[in-house]
Amino acid sequence: DSDEYDSYDYIFKVVLVGDSGVGKSNLFSRFTRNTFRLQTLPTIGLDFDAKNMVIDSRTIRTQIWDTAGQERFKALASTYYRGALGALLVYDVTERDTFRDLERLWLQELRLHACDEIAVILVGNKADLRHLRTVSVEEGRAFAERHGLGFVETSALDSTNVDAAFENIVTEIYRRVS
Ligand code: GDP
Ligand code: MG
Repeated sequence: DSDEYDSYDYIFKVVLVGDSGVGKSNLFSRFTRNTFRLQTLPTIGLDFDAKNMVIDSRTIRTQIWDTAGQERFKALASTYYRGALGALLVYDVTERDTFRDLERLWLQELRLHACDEIAVILVGNKADLRHLRTVSVEEGRAFAERHGLGFVETSALDSTNVDAAFENIVTEIYRRVS
């Protein structure tokens, strides 16, 4: 990486949270590397990468963490959430169970392991699959409002709102720490 990439004013850690299969790894790779995979290779452990952006003429380095197929592996949880200032809480708009699990599983998980001040944005992914949708935009928005979260629908496949989702969370963290 170039030298300029190594200088930054802030570094923020952001984690991806949600059921397996909702598209977390593809949101991650779309944002950090502009790549997408139809097939995902289950790997072991944690994956992370970083990307810089500028807000208010400050360079912010966002370190994004992705669980590599071990969403339910509790032993990783404390390492994964430690120091995280932001989270993308992801569900799949075509799989209702992944929406249901937000409340039952993932919000609890965040409450248990993340710091109280963590900024969270709800992300309804796979919005490109219009004909397969089972969770409406309104339901997503209502859930987000009820829990005081940001909200966006994305497609890691066609790139819709992927940058916006990350920029939104980083801006929110910046607002809170600056
Ligand atoms: P993870 O388990 O949450 O990390 O999910 P992955 O990123 O591995 O994605 C699971 C599957 O959904 C893969 O087959 C991806 O190609 C697919 N996928 C991910 N994001 C999208 C999307 O935005 N649209 C569509 N159509 N498929 C997606
Ligand atoms: Mg994954």
